[in-house]
Amino acid sequence: MMTVTEKLQKDVVAAGICTGCGACVALDPAGRARMIDTPLGPQPDFAGARLPDLAWQVCPGKGVDYAALYRAHYGHLPDNWLLGCFQRVRTGHSADETVRRAGASGGVLTHTLIYLLESGLVDAALVVRQGTPSPLQARVVVARTRADILAAAQSVYIPVATLDILPHLEPNKRYAMVCLPDQAAALRQLQLAGHGAAQQIKFVLGPYTGTALYPAAITCFLRSRRVPPGDLVTSLKWRAGEWPGYLEIRTAAGRVLTSKKIYYNFLIPFFITQNSLQNMDFTNEFCDLSVGDAWSPRFEALGGGHSVITTRSAVMEAVINEMCHDGLLNTEPEDPAASLAMHGHMLDFKKRGSYIRNRLRRKFGRAAPDYGLRPEPLPKSRWAVELVVSLLFLVGGTRVARKVLEWIPESVIGPLFNRLRLLWKGWSKPVKRKGLGTLTMIAEEK
Ligand SMILES: Cc1cc2nc3c(=O)[nH]c(=O)nc-3n(C[C@H](O)[C@H](O)[C@H](O)COP(=O)(O)OP(=O)(O)OC[C@H]3O[C@@H](n4cnc5c(N)ncnc54)[C@H](O)[C@@H]3O)c2cc1C
Ligand code: SF4
Repeated sequence: MMTVTEKLQKDVVAAGICTGCGACVALDPAGRARMIDTPLGPQPDFAGARLPDLAWQVCPGKGVDYAALYRAHYGHLPDNWLLGCFQRVRTGHSADETVRRAGASGGVLTHTLIYLLESGLVDAALVVRQGTPSPLQARVVVARTRADILAAAQSVYIPVATLDILPHLEPNKRYAMVCLPDQAAALRQLQLAGHGAAQQIKFVLGPYTGTALYPAAITCFLRSRRVPPGDLVTSLKWRAGEWPGYLEIRTAAGRVLTSKKIYYNFLIPFFITQNSLQNMDFTNEFCDLSVGDAWSPRFEALGGGHSVITTRSAVMEAVINEMCHDGLLNTEPEDPAASLAMHGHMLDFKKRGSYIRNRLRRKFGRAAPDYGLRPEPLPKSRWAVELVVSLLFLVGGTRVARKVLEWIPESVIGPLFNRLRLLWKGWSKPVKRKGLGTLTMIAEEK
C-alpha cells in the first residue's frame, strides 16, 4: 500500500493538481520537507518525509469535501452558494489615505491587520510580500509592526505557499493570517483536527481570488519589452498607482516598465495557473474576512480604491464594526445579493466553470480535485461555452503560443485582448448568467 507521501507525490504533485499551499510540508514531523520554487509555483519536496494521514485529508489539491467543511466550520450550509456563509457585506475603503493607496483596492485587508495588531488582538500577522527573497519572488513573512504589514500590502498574482510557515510560529503567540481560498480551506481543516500551530491563527483574512499567473508570465512580459537578460529586475508591483492600478517593473539599468491592469490581463490565457482553473471558491469562503475589488461603474467613476468587504464570523464582524465606528474604515452597507453582480463573470468561472473543467479533465484521464459539489442549474450551453474557454487555455499554455506572445508588442496585444475579452464577455453573458442568481450546489454521492 502506498504511504501518504507517495500518494501525495503521485496523485497530486505529479498529477499536476497541487495548489502549492504548503499544508503537507507543515505536517512533516521531522521538518525536512519544504516547498521549492518550480515553473508551476511552489511545490513540495518531501525529502523522504513520513507524512501523517492528516496531510492527505487536508490537501486541497486532491479536493475538499466542501459540504462537510461548511457544516464543521459554520455549522450549516450556505444560504447563498455564490457568497458562502457570511455575516455582513459592505463596500468601502480604509479611511487612512496612505493605507488606502498602498492597498490593492481599498486597503481594507492591510488596515484590518494593522488594527488587529495594534489593538493587541494578535501578536503578529502572516502576510505575503512581493520582493522576498528577490524582486521577482514572493513569500509569506511574519509582520510584527505596522510598517511590516504596510510593506506587504497589494496583491501578489503569482502562486505563494503560506501554510508551510506553521511549524515556525512562536509557541503561545496569536496570529492573523492572509490566505487564498485553497489555503484557507486547508487551514480550517487543520484547525478542526486540533493542529496546535493552526489553532494559533485567530483571524483568517483573504482576497476574493479569480486568477493567478505562473512566474513565467513575467519572463514573457520582460522579453516582449526587449529587456535583455542581464538587466535585472530591481522591483515589481502588481498594482502600483491609482486603483485599479498597473503592473510596474523597474530594472537595474533604470527602465520602468508599466502596463495597465486591464491590459496585462492578456497574460492570463497563456499563464493561468491550474489552481485558478480548478478551484470553485471565488469569495474566499473560509476566511473571517474576505475582500475583493468593488467593480461597479459607480465606484470606478469615483476612483481612489473601493473594496467589497464580507465578514463571515461574529468576532470579525465585531472588529469591522468597531473599525467603522472609530472612523478607521469608511463603509456603507451593501445588499449581499446585489454585491455579487460586481463579480458575476468570475463567480460563474469558478462555481460552474471549475466544475466543468474538472469533469473534462477526468473524462480525458487526467487527475482533478473532488469537491463533492455539483452546480445546479448547469445547462448544455454552459458546457459549450466552457469547451471554448478550455480550448483557449489549452492552446495559450503551449510553448509555441507563449513564444509567439513575446513577439507581439504589448501596445497591440493589450488593447486587442481587452477588446476581445469585452466582446466575449458580452456574447457569453446570457449563457454565463443564465441561472446564476439561483445557483445551488448539490452534494454529490461518493
Ligand atoms: C491571486 C489573486 C487574484 C485575485 N483576483 C481577484 C478578482 O478576480 N476579483 C477581485 O475583485 N479581486 C481579486 N483579488 C483581490 C484583490 O486583488 C485585492 O487583494 C482585494 O480587493 C483586497 O484589497 P485590499 O486593498 O483590501 O488588500 P491590501 O490592503 O492590498 O492587502 C492585501 C493582503 O493580501 C496579502 N496577499 C497578497 N497576495 C497574496 C497571495 N497571493 N496569497 C496570500 N496573501 C496575499 C498581502 O500580504 C496583504 O496582506 C485577487 C487577489 C489575488 C492575490
Ligand atoms: S496542495 Fe498543498 S497539501 Fe496538497 S500536495 Fe500540494 S502543497 Fe501539499
